[in-house]
Amino acid sequence: MKIEHLGIAVRSLETSDNLFARLMGKASYKRESVEREGVTTSFYKAGESKIELLEASNAESPIAKFIEKKGEGIHHIAFGVVDIYAEIERLKGEGFMFISEEPREGADNKLVVFLHPKSTNGVLVELCMEKS
Ligand code: ZN
Repeated sequence: MKIEHLGIAVRSLETSDNLFARLMGKASYKRESVEREGVTTSFYKAGESKIELLEASNAESPIAKFIEKKGEGIHHIAFGVVDIYAEIERLKGEGFMFISEEPREGADNKLVVFLHPKSTNGVLVELCMEKS
């Protein structure tokens, strides 16, 4: 598993795109809405990994709830996997809990699934696999 990206919850993509463009020394290469997840995302390359900024697109969005509770900041760590179904089975066998065991379509042409932070030291972990 490699770290595919880090997800960062932000209040405003406008403001944070400006901030991260200055921080990374380059503009976001992609902005994408995932309506079913209630998020708009913006991606930056960081070597082999990426930074994913996440803005809530409605009040029910998990990102809106996260920011309400904890404020802006690191929201999740995403591991890139070759076979997401095999990894789900392996991790279930290791006793990890999932928010949902069924991979869904995420941003950036990925199938994604999230482990429950209760089983991962409070860290929201995403597994993601490139869609073929
Ligand atoms: Zn992510």
